[in-house]
Amino acid sequence: MAGMEMRALRKSYGGLEVLHDIDLTIDDGEFVVLVGPSGCGKSTLLRMIAGLEPITGGEFRIGGRRMNEVPPRDRDIAMVFQSYALYPHMSVGRNMGFSMEIRRRPAAERAGPVAAAARTLGLDRLLERFPKALSGGQRQRVAMGRAIVRDPQAFLFDEPLSNLDAALRVEMRLEIARLHQRLGTTTVYVTHDQVEAMTLADRIVVMNGGVIQQVGNPLELYDRPANRFVAQFIGSPT
Ligand code: ADP
Ligand code: MG
Repeated sequence: MAGMEMRALRKSYGGLEVLHDIDLTIDDGEFVVLVGPSGCGKSTLLRMIAGLEPITGGEFRIGGRRMNEVPPRDRDIAMVFQSYALYPHMSVGRNMGFSMEIRRRPAAERAGPVAAAARTLGLDRLLERFPKALSGGQRQRVAMGRAIVRDPQAFLFDEPLSNLDAALRVEMRLEIARLHQRLGTTTVYVTHDQVEAMTLADRIVVMNGGVIQQVGNPLELYDRPANRFVAQFIGSPT
């Protein structure tokens, strides 16, 4: 079970609170999309889930286990960023297998998972290449491949497609949907793209000013927005 529970989660930077009493339960296998204006706290919430930002208050559990103080390396979570953060001096294959390399898995054991992820993402023929010889879309695939190889309890995506052109964005969105259908891994996905949110999400979380405005499936939010902010953000008439 890799469901997540957030109870009255709070986050302050210095003295300033940027997330206030976040209550959210994410089911095992669910695809949850966080939306909201720039600065509302989406990335901060993802980073807290990943363990990259200390939690200031409240409770965070994964699969029932309290995670507040668990360091990132002991969380079974893979994060994909919009800046792909590939290692430039490593080949595609080594980039994808690096999480196993740092856990001292021998090369013979790393090859299988890397090859499987490469097949899934159409990267088979690029394994020997270096990141600088890849297109933006290919780099994004490698970043996703690196996450898949870990076979984590959960995927976190922070606006993974915002650097890609429109056509590639559509292609990668479909790829992510297929991947989730196949793997069924719990996913928290941040985007400011309404189409991505509406098409990928089991449920959408609308945030504003560090507060959750509404949680619901795409149709619910569209048909019954809780307030004017949600209505305007989701794009349904008020
Ligand atoms: P979003 O991803 O929704 O655009 P962020 O989570 O990046 O929002 O930011 C939420 C708020 O926290 C913003 O007001 C931002 O300025 C502030 N913030 C984010 N990171 C830091 C940090 N490292 N130090 C201080 N303030 C930060
Ligand atoms: Mg952000």
